[in-house]
Amino acid sequence: MQVRTGIAVSPGVVVGPALVLGSENFRIPGKFLRDAVEVELARFRTALDHVCSDIEEHEILVGEQLGSQYAAIFSAHLQMARDPRLISDVEQKIQEDNYSPEYAVSKTLRGLAQQMQNLGDRYLAERALDIFDLEKRLLGELLGERREELSNLTEPVIILAHDLTPGETATLNTDFVLGFATEVGGHTSHTAILAGALEIPAVVGLGRCLAGISGGETVILDGDHGQVVIEPDDSTTNRYRDSQARNLKVSERLESLESVESQTQDGIRIRTMGNIEFPEEVRQCVRRGADGVGLYRTEFLYLGRKNEPTEEDHYQAYRQVLEACGDRPVVIRTLDIGADKVPDRIRHRFAESQNPMLGLRSIRLSLQGTPLFKVQLRAILRAAVYGRAEIMFPLVSSLLEFRQAKMILMDVMEDLEDEGIEFCRDIPVGMMVEVPSAVILAEEFAREVDFFSIGTNDLIQYTLACDRSDPSVANLYRSGDPSILRMIQMVMTAAKKHDKPVTVCGQMSSDPRFVPLLLGLGLRKLSVTPHSIPRLKEVVTHISLPEAERIAAHACTLDLARDVEHFLLGELGRICPDLVF
Ligand code: PEP
Ligand code: MG
Repeated sequence: MQVRTGIAVSPGVVVGPALVLGSENFRIPGKFLRDAVEVELARFRTALDHVCSDIEEHEILVGEQLGSQYAAIFSAHLQMARDPRLISDVEQKIQEDNYSPEYAVSKTLRGLAQQMQNLGDRYLAERALDIFDLEKRLLGELLGERREELSNLTEPVIILAHDLTPGETATLNTDFVLGFATEVGGHTSHTAILAGALEIPAVVGLGRCLAGISGGETVILDGDHGQVVIEPDDSTTNRYRDSQARNLKVSERLESLESVESQTQDGIRIRTMGNIEFPEEVRQCVRRGADGVGLYRTEFLYLGRKNEPTEEDHYQAYRQVLEACGDRPVVIRTLDIGADKVPDRIRHRFAESQNPMLGLRSIRLSLQGTPLFKVQLRAILRAAVYGRAEIMFPLVSSLLEFRQAKMILMDVMEDLEDEGIEFCRDIPVGMMVEVPSAVILAEEFAREVDFFSIGTNDLIQYTLACDRSDPSVANLYRSGDPSILRMIQMVMTAAKKHDKPVTVCGQMSSDPRFVPLLLGLGLRKLSVTPHSIPRLKEVVTHISLPEAERIAAHACTLDLARDVEHFLLGELGRICPDLVF
C-alpha cells in the first residue's frame, strides 16, 4: 500500500482502478494474464523484436542524415531495450507473478525510472525519460488496436496524471471518470475549479509519484483530505468505507437546505449565488436554491473545442443560463483567456510569454483583440433580453482599462441599435477585484462601477506573489493571510461609501471556514461552486450577524495566516460541527 498526500480540491471519496495517463493517454489493461504464459511471453518477445528493429531503423536513418554522434542516441536506447537483466525482470513477472506483458513491462520500466529519479542526479533523472520512451514504444506494440483513448472510456476509472489542462479536464467523461489526481496543481488552479464544477473528487499537487504506478491498481481517492491510497489494505479500505458512509449522511441532511432561504439567525438575508463554467451547470444552481449566478466563466466556451465560438454560440449559451435563472441575476464575466486557460488553437500566441500569469490575459487580451470582445458583448446584450444579466470585466488593473472596456460596450450598443437588433441597454456593469492596484484604487473605481466582485483566487496570488497552481508554494498561498483580510476590508469601505454592492466569488467563499469572517466583514452576497451551496447555507443559517462580526473583529487582530485559519476552524467547529472532519 502506498499513501500520497496532496491538496484536496474537490470533495468526496471514490474507489476504483487507476488509469495512469502518460503522454499517449492510453491505459494499461488488467494486470493479470488472460492467456497461457507461453502465449503471453511470445507476445512480449515479438513486441520487443519490433521495437528493437524500429530503433535500429531510426539509428541508421539518423546516422546517414545527421552523423554518427546523433545516431549514438539510438544505440543507447537499443542497448537498454536489449539489456538481459531488464528482459529477464519482465519475463519473470509474466511467468511467476502471472502479470500481463503490458503490466509487467510498465511495472519493470517504471520501477527502474523511479529509482533513477530518486538518485538525485540530474543526468540520471533525464535518462529516466528514455525509459518512459521505451515503455511507450513497447506498450504501443503490445496494445495495438486495443489501446483505449481517454475520450473513449468504457468502464469507471480514477485518473492519475502528471497534469491535466483545464481544456482536458473540461472534456472528461464523468460517466466513467470517478475522480482524478495530479502530480502538479494548486488550490485554486482552474483544473481544480473544474473538478468542483464536474462534481468529481479530486486531489492535486501530489508531487512526483506516478513513475511506479502502471494502471489497473486499486486506488482510493479522498477528495476531502487530499489523499490517494494505492493498493489499499483491508483495514484502510474499511476505514474509507466508514468515512464515505458518514459523508453521505451529512450530504443527505444538507440537501434538505436546498429549499431553505439563506438567512442568518437574526434575519439578515445573505444572497447565495453559484459559480458556473458551463451553461448546463445552471441546473445545479437552481436545484440547490441559489439566488442566481454570481460568476459565469465564459472562457470555457473556448476551451475543449476545435473551432472559435460564433456570436450565435455565445448567444445560445447565455440565453440558456438566463432563461433557466428567470428573475434571478446572472453575472456574465467577459473572457478571461490567458495564463492557464489558453485554447489550443491560439496557444502559439502565448508561447513566448515567460510569465503568463502576468502576461496577456483577461481584459488585456479582450482590449487588444477588439473584434473577439465585440462578438461576445453583442451576444450578451442580445441574450440579456431574456433575463437579468449583468456584465463583469475580469482582472481590471487600471481605471483606463475599465473605461476602455465600457466604451467598447457603448460602441457595441450603438451598432446593435443601428442594425435594429433587440438588446438590453440597461445592464449593470461591474468589475472583478483581483489585482492589488484595484484594491488600492477601490474608491476611484467605486464611483464608476455598478458592482464589485472580489476574485480572491487571483487576489491572493498577486498579493502574496504566489502562483495559484504551483504546489511548491501552496503553503504560502493562504486565504487567511492578514493582508488578504485587510484588502477585503478596504474594498468594503470604498464600496460602502459609494453604495455599491460587493460579492466574493473566489474559492475563499466556498470554504465554510471563511463564511463567518466574510459576513462579519460586511459581505451580503457570496458566490460559490454549486456543490458548496448547501454548506454555505448551513453556516449562514447557524450564525447571527453580531457573532460573525465578533469573529471577523478577532480574526483581524491576528497577524499570522496560520493563526487566523486555526481560529476560524475552531469557530466553525463550534457553529457547525458536522462541517469539520
Ligand atoms: C478569482 O480569481 O478569484 C476568480 C473568481 O476568477 P478565476 O478563478 O476564474 O481566475
Ligand atoms: Mg480570477
